Amino acid sequence: MSDLAREQFFDHCQHGLDLLIIGGGISGAGLLWLASLNGWRAALIEQSDFAYGSSSRSSKLIHGGLRYLPQGHWRLTREAVRERENLRALFPAIESLRFHLPFRRQAPISHSLGLWLYDVFAGRKSRDTFKMIAEIFPEISSVENLSSLSYLDAASDDAGLVIEVLKRAEACGGLAQNYVTATELLFQHDKVIGVNVRDELNGECTEIRARHIVEATGAWQGLHHALSETLRLKPLRGSHWVLPFHLFPCSQALAFKHPDDGRYVYAMPWQGCTLFGTTDVGHTAGMTTEPHISVNESAYLQCALQHHFPYRDWRPSDCLSTMAGVRPTVDDGAISADDISRELVIRHQPGYSQLKGGKLTTFLASAEKLLGEVATEIGKKHNIQRPAPDRTTKKPDAQRSVGRIAVSGCDYQVRHLDDFLLRRSRLGNTLRNGGLRELEALRPLLQQRWQWSDQRWQQEQLRYLQIWQRSYAPVAS
Ligand SMILES: Cc1cc2nc3c(=O)[nH]c(=O)nc-3n(C[C@H](O)[C@H](O)[C@H](O)COP(=O)(O)OP(=O)(O)OC[C@H]3O[C@@H](n4cnc5c(N)ncnc54)[C@H](O)[C@@H]3O)c2cc1C
Repeated sequence: MSDLAREQFFDHCQHGLDLLIIGGGISGAGLLWLASLNGWRAALIEQSDFAYGSSSRSSKLIHGGLRYLPQGHWRLTREAVRERENLRALFPAIESLRFHLPFRRQAPISHSLGLWLYDVFAGRKSRDTFKMIAEIFPEISSVENLSSLSYLDAASDDAGLVIEVLKRAEACGGLAQNYVTATELLFQHDKVIGVNVRDELNGECTEIRARHIVEATGAWQGLHHALSETLRLKPLRGSHWVLPFHLFPCSQALAFKHPDDGRYVYAMPWQGCTLFGTTDVGHTAGMTTEPHISVNESAYLQCALQHHFPYRDWRPSDCLSTMAGVRPTVDDGAISADDISRELVIRHQPGYSQLKGGKLTTFLASAEKLLGEVATEIGKKHNIQRPAPDRTTKKPDAQRSVGRIAVSGCDYQVRHLDDFLLRRSRLGNTLRNGGLRELEALRPLLQQRWQWSDQRWQQEQLRYLQIWQRSYAPVAS
């Protein structure tokens, strides 16, 4: 994107915004899209790259509320399944993913019924719910005596989804810029009327005013100090291993219990590799540095693989990369990480709202709820119109080759090499050593594309490799 577009953005922000959104993860992107679609004059700022927070580090699942079933919450499950199906109709990149739960003996009848119902809610008559694991995962020989119960959910590349939502918001007149930090809220009496922002690309500071400000900053501390004091966050970190497909060939998803604590861990296909995780541990390092997997988390994942798939000796160095994200969970007094609520929290103050938690899956429903709640304050209709299903966007190219991705990879507001490698093309997550070897071959193409001098390229490469080493490299246990 040219500097002109950036200038236009700041210009747009000086001409009476209805809504300014702080935070360019899936929550912020969803708000921008829905607000713009409903005719609000809206803009979004992101301090780093879009999807820099948990929206590029999640397990990538678009859940249908399976967890509500054991408690008998049929209605909640049906609603969540509908929301998942709505999203699938809107985004061809959200694909169905069959999950298999292995059982040594026959699966309990309650499980079979529940999963059958789950598929029925989505309008599917599931015929292949029961299968032998060895039929589905022939390469993973150690599981040959297991039977499986299966159900359908969905998955999508999370960072790709954020960019797609931002592009759709732009098509409706919403504007977004990355590398712009909100540093301070501006008040008139008790009402929030704007924010001070810093352009991280040139260090310039300016003021943006809007009729309403929404903070969708995930695990980052909120800027509204009075509100932040009343809501204590207890961030939890979840980490994944990205494994080469040939070492752990999962063409469908497999869920199995960790031998130490009985938690479910998942292996699933992602970007031509196998994504395996996740952990769930307290994150005490704060949000000023990028999160990374710890030695203990790595050992936890290794232990689960070794226990269930002893056909080889698993080592952290088997990973192509790792990925750690932080959930902005609220401190509700729960002692174990599993018991802490991951529900959405929306709070309002005059001229300002804050959104925490929630899921990738529910971003549109969350945006609809929040906008509906603030609409009357700024003189807008409170029944928020949803987007119509999209029948024009094609599915992403399933054939992944480095050259193909580099040529056709999305360039949307790429400011740094790490934006492209870690959140647009995902090459940095899926190539060994962060793609260091391939980078030399790609250099002429990318340098020309972004008109970077040799000196700029070297700076960018150094920056990227430092980030990769610190936060994405495999960690030995
Ligand atoms: C390990 C893990 C696995 C998960 N798996 C799933 C899953 O499978 N399915 C699912 O539905 N959900 C999942 N989730 C939850 C989901 O990822 C999050 O709920 C979702 O990504 C939250 O998006 P967000 O936009 O609210 O926050 P984030 O994505 O964290 O975005 C917040 C953004 O705000 C920016 N920001 C912060 N401060 C400022 C500032 N002052 N100025 C400007 N910008 C600022 C940050 O840079 C960041 O980009 C998972 C989460 C984790 C951590």
